[in-house]
Amino acid sequence: MANRKFKTEVADLLHLIIHSLYSNKEIFLRELISNASDAIDKLRYLSLTDEKLKGFSFEPRIDISFTEESPRTLTIRDNGIGMNEEDLNSNLGTIASSGTRKFLASLSDEQKKDSNLIGQFGVGFYSAFMVASRITVISRKAGEDKAWKWESDGESSYSIEEAERDGQGSTIILTLGEEGEQYANRWELENLIKKYSDNIAYPIFLEYDQVHYDNEKKDDKGNALKTTEHKVEQINSASALWKRSKSSIKDEEYREFYKNSFYDSEDPLFYIHTQAEGATEYTTLFYIPAKAPFDMYYADYRPGVKLYVKRVYITDDDKELLPSYLRFVRGIIDSEDLPLNVSREILQENRVMVSIRNASVKKLLGEFRKISENNPELYAKFIAEYNRPLKEGLYSDYANRDALLELVRYKSSTEDGFVSLKDYKSRMKEGQKAIYYISGGKEEVLRTSPLVAAYREKGYEVLIMGDDIDDIVIGTVGEYDKTPLKAINKAGALDDLRNDEDKAKEEAKKPVAEKMKKALGDKVKDVVVSSRLSSSPAAVIFSDDDPSMQMQRLMKQMGGSDMPEIRPLLEINPDSPVIARIENSDDEDYIAALSSVLLDQAMLQEGVMPSDPAAFAAALTKLLS
Ligand code: ADP
Repeated sequence: MANRKFKTEVADLLHLIIHSLYSNKEIFLRELISNASDAIDKLRYLSLTDEKLKGFSFEPRIDISFTEESPRTLTIRDNGIGMNEEDLNSNLGTIASSGTRKFLASLSDEQKKDSNLIGQFGVGFYSAFMVASRITVISRKAGEDKAWKWESDGESSYSIEEAERDGQGSTIILTLGEEGEQYANRWELENLIKKYSDNIAYPIFLEYDQVHYDNEKKDDKGNALKTTEHKVEQINSASALWKRSKSSIKDEEYREFYKNSFYDSEDPLFYIHTQAEGATEYTTLFYIPAKAPFDMYYADYRPGVKLYVKRVYITDDDKELLPSYLRFVRGIIDSEDLPLNVSREILQENRVMVSIRNASVKKLLGEFRKISENNPELYAKFIAEYNRPLKEGLYSDYANRDALLELVRYKSSTEDGFVSLKDYKSRMKEGQKAIYYISGGKEEVLRTSPLVAAYREKGYEVLIMGDDIDDIVIGTVGEYDKTPLKAINKAGALDDLRNDEDKAKEEAKKPVAEKMKKALGDKVKDVVVSSRLSSSPAAVIFSDDDPSMQMQRLMKQMGGSDMPEIRPLLEINPDSPVIARIENSDDEDYIAALSSVLLDQAMLQEGVMPSDPAAFAAALTKLLS
């Protein structure tokens, strides 16, 4: 028997793992099963490509068994490639990866205590020392006769000697320490296998003894007769559906997989399966639920995408896998290139992850677009649930803004249901320079705005943006397909509809505007004449840089009570008989009452109560009498 010392870096690593990953020690099983699966992968590959092993035939499987009597043990057995003496020495006596070694060397003592940092490299095999006081590996390399036994207590040394083993593969025997006793248990193991390794491509069998008590038959002491049945049961589904070729998967299978994996009783609206090869190799399978997840608008929503690395489950609790506006997407990302123990902090900056994420967003948005073009009925269902999160994307995902602008939908002053910006553009009047919209209130209120009526009468369609998020988002967008977006309730749109004749008329009524401005004082920023308004006498609008009524309400709610009052502009109609009355009057009280009623009723049309209802009522009474 040869006794050897671990390379110092292994001792360091062991120490590090035991101290920083301890709170999550159950992952050791995932690591060992993943190693077993890798070993089978390797042998399968060699049996196809290697001269010596070509044609080698075996039925891949992983077996897990345990003993409950002390000393409790847990055994993981595979029939993969196996290790000879040299392999055992180099794989389990040193840190095989030079990257890991460098990384480890670069850490300060302080950093070594940070369990997130340690996640960056594969802790792998050594993590089993968190639960085992001794590990025995009996392994035989495929195509070789001798088997070897490696053994260590994880302190500073290990031993290697010759041994016996039937067939190729590795058997890892953990002698469980106090901190690992719980794992010599059928339910515990079944649970962990399902949780972490359900989609490992090879069957994982659990061996256990099932005890029966037969009340019909008694033993010598008159107790129910106890019989023990030895069972071997496959625990994982071993399918990794997403890894199968797309053409071999039935629609039904996709749907069942979704319902089982994401706990939804309803079929998904649709799914998108991508198997990417090339610079980064990965598979994604995304589903769009029929109904938006209940927590979609909670700050602490649960992300819906699970990350796998080579079919090994890594996490389902990472909000960075997709941008937050796509938080309704359910599914799987499985990378071939990430390290198994990649930590969250590292994930966000990881080059591979970033490229998968970017490609996934593009893929999703591209598919949404295709559905919008080819399947309007399905798209309508999609929009009914997810229009709003997509609008968040307009705000937060600048890089994909153009794609998102094709996807979002708005109500319209002239059309039923939702319209796209593209459709709006196709309906624009000759010479129309902007896409007109109104935002800053509820849909019902916006629809009845005198401004909307004015545009409609002149034959212009107006987008009714009544979603509270529209107001925040749309101002930042600016233009769609080189056509500017213009809010009709902002001062910037005042000139839009006027011709030379209108201009002359507006010029002529300037004195009335002056009169009213004097009467209203600092209740308004300005009074402006505009021939846009056809049937109403007046409307309120805001300066281009000022927030809308709705935004002001929102800002107040959010605690901006000492926010300066933002004064509106009062827009008046030069053709209105009410305005003519002011023009023709010298009675200052009358002018003041009429002006303030006009302002208040214009505010009412915006859904805002008069700031002083008593004064409003008094002015109205005065006018009526
Ligand atoms: P990693 O799996 O990240 O490389 P590990 O510490 O888990 O790191 O394992 C180190 C090496 O030991 C593996 O790369 C592999 O070559 C070898 N190994 C571990 N488990 C097995 C096994 N069950 N069968 C064959 N080789 C194994």
